[in-house]
Amino acid sequence: MSNRLNAVPNDLSAFWMPFTSNRQFKQSPRMLVSAKDMHYTASDGRKILDGTAGLWCVNAGHCRPKITEAIQQQAAELDYAPAFQMGHPIAFEFANRLVDMAPKGLDHVFFTNSGSESVETALKIALAYQRVAGQGSRTRLIGRERGYHGVNFGGISVGGIVGNRKMFGTLLTGVDHIPHTHQPGKNAFTRGEPEHGAELADEFERIITLHDASTIAALIVEPVAGSTGVLIPPKGYLKRLREICDKHGILLIFDEVITGFGRLGAPFAADYFGVIPDIMVTAKGVTNGVIPMGAVFVKKEIHDAFMTGPEHLIEFAHGYTYSGNPIAAAAGLATLETYKEEGLLTRGEELAPYWEDALHSLKGEPHVIDIRNIGLIGAVELEPIAGQPTKRAFSAFLKAYERGALIRTTGDIIAMSPPLIITKGQINELIDHVREVLRMID
Ligand code: PMP
Repeated sequence: MSNRLNAVPNDLSAFWMPFTSNRQFKQSPRMLVSAKDMHYTASDGRKILDGTAGLWCVNAGHCRPKITEAIQQQAAELDYAPAFQMGHPIAFEFANRLVDMAPKGLDHVFFTNSGSESVETALKIALAYQRVAGQGSRTRLIGRERGYHGVNFGGISVGGIVGNRKMFGTLLTGVDHIPHTHQPGKNAFTRGEPEHGAELADEFERIITLHDASTIAALIVEPVAGSTGVLIPPKGYLKRLREICDKHGILLIFDEVITGFGRLGAPFAADYFGVIPDIMVTAKGVTNGVIPMGAVFVKKEIHDAFMTGPEHLIEFAHGYTYSGNPIAAAAGLATLETYKEEGLLTRGEELAPYWEDALHSLKGEPHVIDIRNIGLIGAVELEPIAGQPTKRAFSAFLKAYERGALIRTTGDIIAMSPPLIITKGQINELIDHVREVLRMID
């Protein structure tokens, strides 16, 4: 790589950075220039331990040769081909391999380019399905408070993050939200799934009574809410949501953008919790985060309901220029092979007890008011500084970066989700960085 691209550029003004405090960043930029396995290298040459798998996506670790080579080969052979009214073999092959590993019954895949696009696709499939199934009055979508479903209009409408919604007007109409499940008073410092809160699923019944089931198309939830601070479902909660959906003919959509591809120690959260949704939204780990791609898994009955009517007509008026992009599919196939060869989709199960103990060793450190974990996800919640929300956790993020560890913060919560190749030694290293940082910040 040229020196120019290994150094902080002189002019940082043109790139308006996403979800970033741009003015703060441009005063003290943090620039990553290369990566290998568990580490980034910063522009000043420091190694940074990746405690977040990039943005919850690089599950097999960075710059894995098999994936890199697959991309290079595919780019030289078939760089792009449309998937509208024609196909290319690799996209079909990838869809088959994904379906092979998916929870039972999720037999069809619709390709997108991101988590946000996968969410929009899932919501549109749900609404369109209800129409083709003769239930056109079911137009309402239900999300959950503190849910994150990407940034497009459907996603922020069913999402429950005020900060992501309030700038953008009225959003989609006909949307309602069930309550989130975070009960710090009852569940603080729980290891794994909290004991208390399954009954919160019954709030969904209240909302159904309010609107009438005949108006509701689908409920969308993240099995584990990641972006709003690692909110783990109480024991029995997801099963209860499934039962309520079944009782009222409402589709259940799981947003598995972060929980998919091994994050919990099982291929998907649906496997982990033993609850299979009707539609499953994925992205990120589908290509190890290397090439943008998303995949929406759909039950056979839903897919088949569209496959009626005259054969020359398009069954579902939706899709993207890059749906099933050959290079993304090649990256995805190589990613699945890597996951399989190295047992990464279940490695989290083996490491989870060690991860849990390491994480909970932070109990009693300064500012810590809660610790939560599941699979290879962890969160450390800090007491906010009065009148300055997010400031303490953000200082922790900056200090950790200075020390050589990448963590993520959301509100006053530190979230960690390392690549699934992490060693026990690296878990200790990561947690020790966090411990030191907690002792350093005000
Ligand atoms: N859904 C969930 C649960 C996510 O965590 C994210 C991203 N963090 C998204 C959707 C959006 O994905 P993307 O940023 O790829 O659009």
